[in-house]
Amino acid sequence: KDVFAMDTYFVLKAYGSNAESGLKTCENKIQELERQFSVTLEDSDIRKLNQRTDSSVEEDTLTLLRRALSLCEETEGALDITLYPVLQKWGFTTDSYHVPSKEELDKLLDKVNYKQVIIDESAGSVVFPEGMELDLGAVAKGYTGDCLLEILKEQGVTSAMVDLGGNVQVLGSKPDGSPWKIAVRNPFDTSKELGVLEISDKCVITSGSYERFFEMDGKKYWHILDPADGYPADSGLVSVTVVGDSGLRCDGLSTALFVMGKNQAERFWRQAGDFEMILVTTDGSLYLTEGLKECFVCGEDWNAQIINR
Ligand code: AMP
Ligand code: MG
Repeated sequence: KDVFAMDTYFVLKAYGSNAESGLKTCENKIQELERQFSVTLEDSDIRKLNQRTDSSVEEDTLTLLRRALSLCEETEGALDITLYPVLQKWGFTTDSYHVPSKEELDKLLDKVNYKQVIIDESAGSVVFPEGMELDLGAVAKGYTGDCLLEILKEQGVTSAMVDLGGNVQVLGSKPDGSPWKIAVRNPFDTSKELGVLEISDKCVITSGSYERFFEMDGKKYWHILDPADGYPADSGLVSVTVVGDSGLRCDGLSTALFVMGKNQAERFWRQAGDFEMILVTTDGSLYLTEGLKECFVCGEDWNAQIINR
């Protein structure tokens, strides 16, 4: 089933007796979640929070916010879901791009701080200071993928793949029992492959500077910002792919590790111990963490260097 939502094409595949009804339920769920998480739809939970018209939110929004905030904490603010005013200033939300001055950014950065977002669990509500605004763009698709695979599993589907605009999450293996083959894009030429991952029951989620960007006066500006200064994260990476069990976690981490850069990402990987990653640097080098050695097949013209524990 193909579904257009959250600004991307979702391609859902499921096999088995309940696959058809499972996919229908998935389609409804995607639309339901979009109506909650969208930062632009008039009545979404996030929009209502940002406009301060209503501080109570649906269960899924609460869950996603709670888990996103804990990722902001764990990544020490490399991920920060309160960046929205800064993203808006650059025009990434409207496609009418602008390069802000340092003064403009500094002023907006006063309002960026995930630590000031307070969830009241018993009331099911969320509050944060005046001027602050939330954006779940870095984590919403991963969480949505998790929900979809959960739905399919509950309905008895044992083999499925959801591709959310390049973020792939798979349930089980292919119907013939072999692992899924997931292509990872070459960030320098997205019509080509960096290589292919052979995996079962995993998420493969990529953040790259090629995904959304604009050029002005010969300089390129992309959509992943460093919350420390409000500029596009210039950490020496062009793409980060995270492979793990939770879509939400892989999605949040791919964005955060992109901001951190290679050295800090390696440290983070060693400490966390629950995911693998593929890094491509601006100078065209490709790095894999050792857990992927056996399941990643390098594309033509690529040579992987292994990051060991
Ligand atoms: P992704 O494609 O998952 O890496 O998410 C990128 C999106 O997350 C952007 O389009 C912004 O909406 C938002 N974003 C950009 N930089 C950050 C950041 N450092 N922390 C949290 N969200 C971000
Ligand atoms: Mg992400």
